[in-house]
Amino acid sequence: MTGQVYLDFNATAPAKPEVVDALARIMGEGGNASSVHATGREARRHVEEARAAVAALVGAAADSVIFTASGTESNNQALRCAGRDRVIASTIEHESVHLARNDAVLAPVTSAGLVDLGALEEALAAEATPALVSVMFANNETGIIQPVAEIAALAHRFGALVHCDAVQAAGKVALDMGALGVDFMTISAHKLAGPQGVGALMVRDRATVVRFVHGGGQERGLRAGTENVSGIAGFGMAASLAHEALGEFAGLAVLRDDLEHRVREIAPDITVIGAGEARLPNTAKFATPGLSSEIQVMGLDLAGIAISAGSACSAGKVEAPYVLTAMGIADELATCAIRVSLGWSTTADHIDAFVDAWRGVCERVRGRAVSAAE
Ligand code: PLP
Repeated sequence: MTGQVYLDFNATAPAKPEVVDALARIMGEGGNASSVHATGREARRHVEEARAAVAALVGAAADSVIFTASGTESNNQALRCAGRDRVIASTIEHESVHLARNDAVLAPVTSAGLVDLGALEEALAAEATPALVSVMFANNETGIIQPVAEIAALAHRFGALVHCDAVQAAGKVALDMGALGVDFMTISAHKLAGPQGVGALMVRDRATVVRFVHGGGQERGLRAGTENVSGIAGFGMAASLAHEALGEFAGLAVLRDDLEHRVREIAPDITVIGAGEARLPNTAKFATPGLSSEIQVMGLDLAGIAISAGSACSAGKVEAPYVLTAMGIADELATCAIRVSLGWSTTADHIDAFVDAWRGVCERVRGRAVSAAE
């Protein structure tokens, strides 16, 4: 830990101490989960326990879980290996969806950030070839939640397979893959306070996908490569803890709403993106006219607060974030947006520290004292 007030959980949620302990202990045990001796069998036990915990978190069957090396890899496998020539994805999907299939037809979202169901239906009806539809559960930048069950039902009417990137939602809101009716679901350990570099792809029917990574027969032939036993065990531990703490996580909305309220008191002209929509309880995304994202991120960093402009993957780029552009938000405003994302270790003191530091940045840039009394 750097000592910063960390409010960038949608980039990576720092691992919980129990996860770090489990990871270190199991890494110390060693063993290859494919080995037949006792050490190997113990490694296998860790992997299978984690599989059950990950499956339980998302309401999936344990044997539907394929462990991968990231959410990115899981998305690539779903998009590239489900045998569908035609892919339809929303305009606000993560790059790991968009770039996995750059031939995908992009379905627009409304100004509320929700997939335009009419446009999706048109795209589905445009060709007879059955498609794969990929829609995220919750957006990484705005936290806005999609009507995934409705989308899945619509897509299935046209014979499509449905993939849901639930990387940002898992461990933050309750998920039930069966009730959602999706065919594939992606999640990633480091977004739910597990280790980085471990992901999972849930596959309702294993016959609908082939391997993306070729080599050995691990993961019952669907993902080659020696299992990352300690990382997977850490993922399992993180999934169990997140599952138990879903109620507590929902409570973060109180802190998030307080933050938005106080920021609005300082600058009444802010736009809170997704206000009024169903969204993740931990995510605040707001734009302040005339206060560029970069200035805010850098100013807050200097003041000891870690937040981000948008997705970590777009860090360093100065153009308007495509997710906001897709929602029809003008570039001048979109380039003034920041994302503050809370998590398991966030306290009211962190929110106070953020608000004080943000007021300082705002005052410096706007050249006058701004106070709650304004
Ligand atoms: N999908 C979404 C919505 C994400 O936010 C991210 C990461 O930011 C990913 C996929 C990629 O996951 P990973 O970092 O495990 O590759």
